[in-house]
Amino acid sequence: MASVTIRGAEKREYHIPLGLFIDNEFSPAANNETVDVENPTTGDLLAKVAAAQPSDVDKAVLSSHAAFKGSWRKTTPEIRRELLHRLGDLIERDGDELASIEAVDAGMLFHGSLALSVRQAVETCRYFGGWADKIQGKSMHIAEGMAYTKREAIGVCAAIVPWNAPLMITMWKLAPAIAAGNTMIIKTPELAPLYGQKLASLVVEAGFPPGVINIICGLGRVAGQALAEHPSVRKLSFTGSTMTGRGILATAARTNLKRVTLELGGKGPSIVFADADLENALFWATFGITVHNGQICAAGSRIYVQDEIYDKFVTEFSKRAREYVAGDPLLDTTTKGPLISALQRERVLEWIEKGREEGLEIVHDAENGSSKVPLSGHFVPNVAFGNVDPSSSLIREEIFGPVASIGRFKTEEEAIALANDSEYGLAASVFTSHVNRAIRVSDAIEAGQVTINMWGIVNANTPFGGIKSSGFGRDLGEEAIEEWTHTKSVKFNLLVQ
Ligand code: NAD
Repeated sequence: MASVTIRGAEKREYHIPLGLFIDNEFSPAANNETVDVENPTTGDLLAKVAAAQPSDVDKAVLSSHAAFKGSWRKTTPEIRRELLHRLGDLIERDGDELASIEAVDAGMLFHGSLALSVRQAVETCRYFGGWADKIQGKSMHIAEGMAYTKREAIGVCAAIVPWNAPLMITMWKLAPAIAAGNTMIIKTPELAPLYGQKLASLVVEAGFPPGVINIICGLGRVAGQALAEHPSVRKLSFTGSTMTGRGILATAARTNLKRVTLELGGKGPSIVFADADLENALFWATFGITVHNGQICAAGSRIYVQDEIYDKFVTEFSKRAREYVAGDPLLDTTTKGPLISALQRERVLEWIEKGREEGLEIVHDAENGSSKVPLSGHFVPNVAFGNVDPSSSLIREEIFGPVASIGRFKTEEEAIALANDSEYGLAASVFTSHVNRAIRVSDAIEAGQVTINMWGIVNANTPFGGIKSSGFGRDLGEEAIEEWTHTKSVKFNLLVQ
């Protein structure tokens, strides 16, 4: 099967297979269909990866089905735990390679990928490996005698993953699904699928039986759609845009009513009170919208600052948002990589133009008429807008770029009202030194996650997901085990002799 050689950090070379991974083997897609994967830093073609067609999706599902009905459903929790721990160890061992891949095809900073995506992937494997032998039901008394519940595997499951931190998001779904005894098909993002090709080799090395984990790349409207429609897929977890999520839910309703988890977009508020530790708030608020160029569902893209410190905050924020070195994400010295694609760059630049036309720009990087971002590749500068009207689409819609909208508020009530005035409800941050205020405001905020005096922290043992149009269901934490199992009640009639 074809492979590609990529050059990672410190010019190390890595060979990556390019086929569909089904039954622990790589194979070409039907009609040898491929998808072009480019390096967003240069715009050059990196690889042609096999692109699954509906018949390939069928093959993957048949393989997962055979594995589930065969020996996998009888596998002991201890074996599942060992396999997940081994996979975590291998991801850790090959962390440099995986981070290089995410730098080269997803534009993540190499060190950012190591610290976030790779580390999270390892921890998630270990955390859910630990769950495999702790998945329990309850017992209860009933009039007829007694009953107990069991949490059982669902069967053939699937995940559709986006391109931002794809390794981490894959493991959020894969690890609990496998711990719970399901078989799993991963549809990797067509814009950044190479991590999945590498992960497939580690799945074999860890010792997973064929068909337990199948990994296929493919276009969303072809392979993703075929998975969403497939009658033998019983659960589908999706992370991606709200628009695609709506379509997937409708498809599941129209076909076999498969269970669906939706992790969708966001427009996260960061609320900075005058009593906050300003240095700390500035660090996290700047990080929350500039890290990975704001291409993060939980990005703190709406920043609300209390009147008394607004001017000082904006001056300092502007200074920090301009301090970056844009370039090759593989280099230690780079602090800003490219956006994922030319299309994404075009979209973000349109948003920036809109804000400029409205005269709202307060952070820009043009000094002496020249920009600090490279002219080739999909780079955009960090930008912030001030005094954005709450009705403006700039503050209502997800931009998925390094574009902050900064507003001001007078009172706590006003801050809460502004934060909740959004169709999204994924993540929010509150900066304050008063614990009572922190609790009051976090209680009042409509979001699946609120961080106090920090932004965007994810932990394997803490559930993550949204409310409102940010979706439903949870990755991570004990809740994830519930997402990947169903409950069976068993009842005994003890009145019969
Ligand atoms: P996207 O919806 O375009 O694509 C996500 C995945 O869905 C890709 O694998 C794609 O191939 C697939 N897909 C596309 N169309 C499909 C279809 N018709 N049927 C089935 N699958 C289809 O999103 P994206 O641009 O890759 O990712 C960015 C979006 O993801 C943003 O909105 C962001 O907020 C969201 N996101 C959410 C989270 C979260 O945890 N809530 C995390 C990361 C990203």
